[in-house]
Amino acid sequence: MKAVCWEGTEDVRTLNVADPAILNPRDVIVRVRATAICGSDLHLYGGMIPSMQAGDILGHEFMGEVVETGAAITSLQVGDRVVVPFAIACGGCFFCKKQLFSLCDNSNPNAALAETMYGYSGSGLFGYSHIYGGYAGGQAEYVRVPFADVGAFKLTPNVTDEQAVFLADILPTGYMAAENCGIEPGDTVAVWGCGPVGLMAMKSAVLLGAERVIAIDRIPERLQLAVQFAGAEPLNYEDEGVLERLHDLTYGQGPDRCIDAVGMEAHGTTVDAWYDRIKQAVYLGTDRPHALREAIQACRKGGTVSIPGVYGGLLDKLPFGAAFAKGLKFAMGQTHVHKYLDLLMEKIETSQIDPAQIISHRGTLDDAPGLYETFRNKQDACTKIVLTP
Ligand SMILES: [Zn+2]
Ligand SMILES: [Zn+2]
Repeated sequence: MKAVCWEGTEDVRTLNVADPAILNPRDVIVRVRATAICGSDLHLYGGMIPSMQAGDILGHEFMGEVVETGAAITSLQVGDRVVVPFAIACGGCFFCKKQLFSLCDNSNPNAALAETMYGYSGSGLFGYSHIYGGYAGGQAEYVRVPFADVGAFKLTPNVTDEQAVFLADILPTGYMAAENCGIEPGDTVAVWGCGPVGLMAMKSAVLLGAERVIAIDRIPERLQLAVQFAGAEPLNYEDEGVLERLHDLTYGQGPDRCIDAVGMEAHGTTVDAWYDRIKQAVYLGTDRPHALREAIQACRKGGTVSIPGVYGGLLDKLPFGAAFAKGLKFAMGQTHVHKYLDLLMEKIETSQIDPAQIISHRGTLDDAPGLYETFRNKQDACTKIVLTP
């Protein structure tokens, strides 16, 4: 089959590889109908995530059709159209029973690697390095889905393939980020980053009752999309100081809820942002937490900082004193996708949200290498890429 393979830093190729096969009774094989390139795939592309190996198949956002089922699968049949959460969960462990699916204890065969770094391991992830299990991803014609009885969700006919691919990660991730804020009526929510997760977080914040949403970015087209898609107020940090502007927009109080949808590769125009870039360039730092620093500094007293943006290592120069002094609440982590799929499928079916509106580029698996580069360079107003094999 054809698959998009990571061959090294900034080297992605579409290659012919062996077809996947059923390995366990709870597996299914899915023929991919749509798959997306995610902002967090760019961390792999840029060589920011350790333990990638040449030949690893990328992709954790995909949907398709079941073509083969393992002996223990009774809930799915050949021909079912399904979406697959990016986090792999067994459904039966301590964490899965608490609906903390992305913290599943049974789906990462390389847990020891993550335990060395983090104390304990999260779940396995599709197409996201060997620390997260080394699972082949879905930017391919076929993919093996483990624990498919809990990890492949049948789609209703009213949800299109392009809408469904957003259910694998981006929409639940934005929704959980907004839910983690604990939004109250009248709240102002500030969101750093107008990428796909930021946009879904903004729209979800509105659905959860936010009165105002402020979108922070530096690319005019991305800010414009935030205005159109979520009714956000745009704030371009290259034109004005973020802290000053947020202070003014909230009558001197600060946003009630702050969402960092940027993560480890933040850009910035302030001194701390340059400090991060230099440290990272000489391998003295793993992450560039400029957006997170700003969110902590901007947030109103007693507010919430929610972090869907991905971080990997040790964060430097975080204003923890400010967080403590203001009594902030924090929430973060990989998304418990399984928990949200029924709810979000209904929100798509009832037209409360149409995530496919933010797709900017479409292509085939063969187009992937060029599209990775376009996306990385933020060229051509590239916000979201969907590939059909
Ligand atoms: Zn993703
Ligand atoms: Zn589990």
